[in-house]
Amino acid sequence: MAPPRIIAPSGTIGILGGGQLGRMAALAAAELGYDCHIFTPEDDSPAARVAASATVAAYDDADALARFAGAVDVVTFEFENIPFETVQMLEKTLPVRPGWEPLRVAQDRREEKRFLNGQGIPTAPWVNVESLADLEAAVGEIGHNGVLKSARHGYDGKGQARIKPDTPLAEAWSEVGEEAAVFEGFVDFACEIAVVVARGIDRSARAFDVTETVQANHMLDRALVPARIAPAIAVAARETSIAIADALDVVGLITVEMFVTRDDEVLVNEMAPRPHNSGHWTQDGCVVSQFQQFVRAVAGLPLADPARHADIVMKNLVGDDVADWKTLTADPAACVHLYGKREARPGRKMGHVTWLKPKTD
Ligand code: AMP
Repeated sequence: MAPPRIIAPSGTIGILGGGQLGRMAALAAAELGYDCHIFTPEDDSPAARVAASATVAAYDDADALARFAGAVDVVTFEFENIPFETVQMLEKTLPVRPGWEPLRVAQDRREEKRFLNGQGIPTAPWVNVESLADLEAAVGEIGHNGVLKSARHGYDGKGQARIKPDTPLAEAWSEVGEEAAVFEGFVDFACEIAVVVARGIDRSARAFDVTETVQANHMLDRALVPARIAPAIAVAARETSIAIADALDVVGLITVEMFVTRDDEVLVNEMAPRPHNSGHWTQDGCVVSQFQQFVRAVAGLPLADPARHADIVMKNLVGDDVADWKTLTADPAACVHLYGKREARPGRKMGHVTWLKPKTD
């Protein structure tokens, strides 16, 4: 019998991954009457602590996956680095939303850029690099100013080396672990933006407003909405993001990160087929948050209207920033969200805060 397309409230959503994105998705699922079952290799994970049940096992533990599959009605994931075999096994008996294709493309920067360029969507100039000799050739082609990024498993600036005119290439090559990579030309951007798109089982897509993202230490620091860009750029960014969701036939969420160049060109940097840090402001700034929209799409419910009702600044709390919780919770205007992580290591995302103002656009 084919698995049901629509999971009724009181059903169980299986989530691969136990981080803060899974935690906030599980909280949003609970609001709609769903239970979540988290599958993660991590003990005491932020998501498992708010979910109805959890399996702590490796992603390639076939027995644990079979038990998980028997306990849930639909499967989704909150991070990208899920092995193909895991998804393949779960897809035999359950809907996995979004499915393997968006995951496959997002897992590898080469696949991602090939896909985007194949769709006619511009990116920074890039070249595939598999050796130091390749890197030397790539720099010869694109110029000695760019970023070398490992093709797989990179996030928050990990596995990346900035190559400036005086950077020795051998050093950069060793910095990314001498593994398959892409070399991208440096984009002298005016700002960075991101769009979260939800797409339902009826294949209709709804995009949240464009977020302006400000990075610090290779990681999102602040999100500003509305983004300080021309209206035509916002329209183009949302249209491109929806076109990507359509082309990958996403059922769930996909977040598209983009550069806006000084000539007002929009270049796609990367994408993630899941809720995203740049969309956390939707929890306080919209009638439906990215997490509830995600749950709706994954469960096969209709999507809600993602309209925004305020201007918003969101600030990430990274590492020791979370020690300010007394001050932040004493600010009556601050919407504080903490992830319950036991240890505040440097560079670890511990929570976020949003501040709302009356809508100006
Ligand atoms: P990524 O992991 O690809 O999202 O890169 C992290 C951050 O590094 C981006 O948000 C940008 O701020 C910066 N960055 C990455 N690639 C480039 C590029 N080609 N040109 C300029 N800045 C970049």
